[in-house]
Amino acid sequence: MSRKYLIAGNWKMNKTPADGADLAKEIAHFVGKDEAAEVVVCPTAVALDRVAHVIEGTAVKLGAQNLYPKASGAYTGEISAEMLRAVFAKYVILGHSERREYFGETDAFVNEKVRFSLECSLNPILCIGETLEQREAGETLEVVKTQLLGGLEGVEEANMPKVVIAYEPVWAIGTGKTATPEMAQEVHAAIRSLLAEKYGVGTAERVRILYGGSMKPANATELLAQKDIDGGLIGGASLEGKSFCDLIAAARSAD
Ligand code: PEP
Repeated sequence: MSRKYLIAGNWKMNKTPADGADLAKEIAHFVGKDEAAEVVVCPTAVALDRVAHVIEGTAVKLGAQNLYPKASGAYTGEISAEMLRAVFAKYVILGHSERREYFGETDAFVNEKVRFSLECSLNPILCIGETLEQREAGETLEVVKTQLLGGLEGVEEANMPKVVIAYEPVWAIGTGKTATPEMAQEVHAAIRSLLAEKYGVGTAERVRILYGGSMKPANATELLAQKDIDGGLIGGASLEGKSFCDLIAAARSAD
């Protein structure tokens, strides 16, 4: 089963709408209508609309960094799926380790968001991954299993092709430390087996599992060559046009 590589840029709390539009222009110009690899940019909420206009007519897709799992109402500071759909977002990052750490998001809450995003026709990018402490205690696979199955509780098999999993070892995010391709592949393979146990091999083979954690042009080719690594969720290296475009090029030529 061949899965299309996906390169997603998580801009986090960076870039004003004007700076985001400039970066999006560079990416849109590079990608054009080429769909060899799927490309998603995830700006801050205030830059979504502007970036949406910049990428219109190109193959670049829009993603959000979060949503609140209610249709509308008194949820000060939050953003709804309908609002994201209105600016033509297709993807939404959910359960990022920064949200788990700084905003106390639990697997149950992340699961609510995953199910809600699917109900609202947004494709969730469900982030999971262990801390350094957990890795050193030999708990990596257990942690990943709990977060994966917790995040996917109640998600039906028919929806799984819309779900993207991002394995992001917390110790590798923004630190410059990357999991070796072998370390990452071991966890990606374990994630795919868990998906196969829950949904069957055919469905598991269709789900894309991204690697995230200090991925950059210098290490992307080796990571993307791993059997179960289907792309990257990129933080730091997505903030600069050249490095993000080099990552897209790496995904286009990976097999
Ligand atoms: C991320 O936060 O999703 C991420 C992978 O960040 P970085 O690439 O900077 O490690």
